[in-house]
Amino acid sequence: MNSADIKAAEASTLCQTYARYPLAVSRGEGTRLFSPEGQVYTDLLAGIAVCSLGHAHPELVRTIAAQAQKLIHVSNLFYQEEQVVLARKLLATTHLDRVFFCNSGAEANEGAIKLVRRYMREGRGEDRYEIISLGGSFHGRTLATLTATGQDKIKKNFGPLPAGFVTVPFGNMEDMKAAITDRTAAVLVEMIQGEGGVRPLPDEYARDLAELCAKRGVLLIVDEIQTGVGRTGKFWAHQHLDLRPDIVTVAKGLAGGLPIGAVMCSEEVAKGFPPGSHGTTFGGNPLIAAVAAKVIDIIERDDLCGYASRMGEHLQGRLAAVWKKFPERIADVRVHGLMIGIELTRPGAEVWKSLLDRGFVLNLTQDTVLRLLPPLIITEEELNAFVSALESTLAES
Ligand SMILES: *Cc1c(COP(=O)(O)O)cnc(C)c1O
Repeated sequence: MNSADIKAAEASTLCQTYARYPLAVSRGEGTRLFSPEGQVYTDLLAGIAVCSLGHAHPELVRTIAAQAQKLIHVSNLFYQEEQVVLARKLLATTHLDRVFFCNSGAEANEGAIKLVRRYMREGRGEDRYEIISLGGSFHGRTLATLTATGQDKIKKNFGPLPAGFVTVPFGNMEDMKAAITDRTAAVLVEMIQGEGGVRPLPDEYARDLAELCAKRGVLLIVDEIQTGVGRTGKFWAHQHLDLRPDIVTVAKGLAGGLPIGAVMCSEEVAKGFPPGSHGTTFGGNPLIAAVAAKVIDIIERDDLCGYASRMGEHLQGRLAAVWKKFPERIADVRVHGLMIGIELTRPGAEVWKSLLDRGFVLNLTQDTVLRLLPPLIITEEELNAFVSALESTLAES
């Protein structure tokens, strides 16, 4: 099908939930995307931080084929070697002890919410159920996770929403202190809000929050669904500050494009999930687990965390020069490894479209923030080419 046929067919078949980009994609290779008509794009979005090793990575292709021939799925009624191999590798990147595998980010956060509620009752014997999250956050689209999400547009007309969620303003420690009560089970935060516009938690706030949670007997859940798996230049964003959250959720980049989610927790908190308390049919199936294990192997072997950090530093320097040249167009540049936000001084739809026309796929979030989440294999030359395109775009518009 050509792009026009795909667009027409979708208009009459799919629920119209998505405001699509004016682009169909039929093939990917490394950092490149191709339309059915053969147009070529540099992918600076990686399927929203998912295709961490780019497209059609030969080693992942081989792993997928080999595992598909052996076993794709058998259900969690059975022991599966691929799952424990992945669990060992994943846990070795953290201070945490146990993991529950599922299929998406929302399902990981939903699992974390269920885990803390149950842990408080089973492990602590306390009736604490409230989850505190931050304004501007994004935690998913299930009923519980959209309730935890700090953006009204995500919740609109989906009520009644589940009870037991509180949202406090981003970055204000006094509000957070006041919100923690005897009912509080956990605080749920992103180290850097992704959907919210690449907004990092201030270092001091994050450290104080971790201390406050420990002092008040409240669990700290860090949502690393977007920031995890090397994205920010360390395997986990919370490791930049040496934090030790009780629970970490992950999804997007972990299986190189296949659907996965995971909840990781301490030995103690894992008491909240006794046999039969939680489950999923697909979660951690052998195909997904084998691929995710391979993704971790490659990230470690090729030091893609270090690479993401160096690429980010390089880009920061180049973007600083553009910012200096166009101070009336750029309000802020936020670079955290390969999680990048360029905040414009006014709505950025035209700039975004012009960059797409110049062959660069990226995202516009919160109306004014150009968000880049390129594959961790993006090259310096490709980043330079993007910066030149941004410069020409700003000069012309
Ligand atoms: C994408 C995202 C989610 C939701 O993940 P899905 O796989 O879309 O359900 C949750 N939290 C954060 C921080 C995300 O970026």
